[in-house]
Amino acid sequence: MTKPLSNRTQNIAASLTVAVDTLAKKLIAEGKDIVSLGAGEPDFPTPAPICEAAKRAIDQGKTRYTAPVGILELRKKICKKFLEENGLNFMPDQITVTSGAKHAVFNSLAALVNPGDEVIIPAPYWVTYPELVKWLGGVPVFVQGARENRFKITAEQLQKACSSKTKAILMNNPCNPTGTVYSRSELEALASVIVQNDIYCISDEVYEYFVYEGEFTSIGSIDGMQERTIIINGFSKSFCMTGWRVGYDASPLPIAKIIGKIQGQATHHPSNIAQYAAIGALDMGKGESLKMRETFRKRRDFMVKGIGESLKQKIAAPEGAFYLFAPVSTVFGKRKPDGTVVKDSLELCQYILESQGLAIVPGAAFGDDSCVRFSYAASDENLKQACIRFNKAIADLK
Ligand code: GLU
Repeated sequence: MTKPLSNRTQNIAASLTVAVDTLAKKLIAEGKDIVSLGAGEPDFPTPAPICEAAKRAIDQGKTRYTAPVGILELRKKICKKFLEENGLNFMPDQITVTSGAKHAVFNSLAALVNPGDEVIIPAPYWVTYPELVKWLGGVPVFVQGARENRFKITAEQLQKACSSKTKAILMNNPCNPTGTVYSRSELEALASVIVQNDIYCISDEVYEYFVYEGEFTSIGSIDGMQERTIIINGFSKSFCMTGWRVGYDASPLPIAKIIGKIQGQATHHPSNIAQYAAIGALDMGKGESLKMRETFRKRRDFMVKGIGESLKQKIAAPEGAFYLFAPVSTVFGKRKPDGTVVKDSLELCQYILESQGLAIVPGAAFGDDSCVRFSYAASDENLKQACIRFNKAIADLK
């Protein structure tokens, strides 16, 4: 074959979180002793009522096509969730059920972005965002959140980043990888810039249930925002349903229509059975997720202390999600036992995986090479092992 392949896909990078997770799972399958804190994937099994709902769906023959935007009963329940938990009024026609939240991000960007449009992305950011923007011919514009400000961007920074080409801002609150959670007043300040500049907002709220301090606020609930915001959420993290692939977005009706059209052409709809499982999840309510949050809180505190001790510095506890984004640049320039020098977060993670069998993700994947990311949605035993192995890897650097 000599004809060139798609230029757009050649310009995007592969997902490093997915690559690290895939490699760790392969090494484990080969019998290697690997502790994987690569992907953010809760270690708990999918709760039984959800599995039962899926089994019932199979028994009742719910195995045929659904509407591209998802089954009505599920979309109604998602509307009820928005009303009760976020104070947001949506009609079922504004909801699209997707194959995971990542797919909802893609659909949303596909509905908004024209070639050359700028999409503002607060940094550090989730690995997938800039690549999807680029894939669609858009231009990611990064706004760096300062570590001293817990990686939050300010209204002034946002205003400076806006240009005549800005189409949207892509927020992740709570944030993967930093654990940053914006308060209502911080969101209000950002919202006023968003409204003033008449841009759209895509708000990925997939870690909504994992906020350790204070209340979660959806930016969609701020005055003037609902009509310009696409809210993204999903079941993978909150209900331990990573492999089921069910997410959703809620958007203004004209955008929802476009998203439905895209989905009808691209994937038709997410698995019918998984959609019934998602109904089972919403029927359960968030009680189990909140119990899980308390477990994650203990794990967070354990990791903050353990990794902080290895790095000989105090690390601020993340306020949300289930990742620790630890600063490691103090070890750059040191020598590994084989005499070679660790230059960046990628090399550090490679060295830690090869020498200690610990899989973590380089900060470079998230736009901050000075850090590495640990997922603490893992068993207590694995977290204990992770601290021991990380400590040994760091102590071996001279
Ligand atoms: N969102 C999770 C993470 O960042 C799962 C992997 C992925 O889709 O990136 O680890």
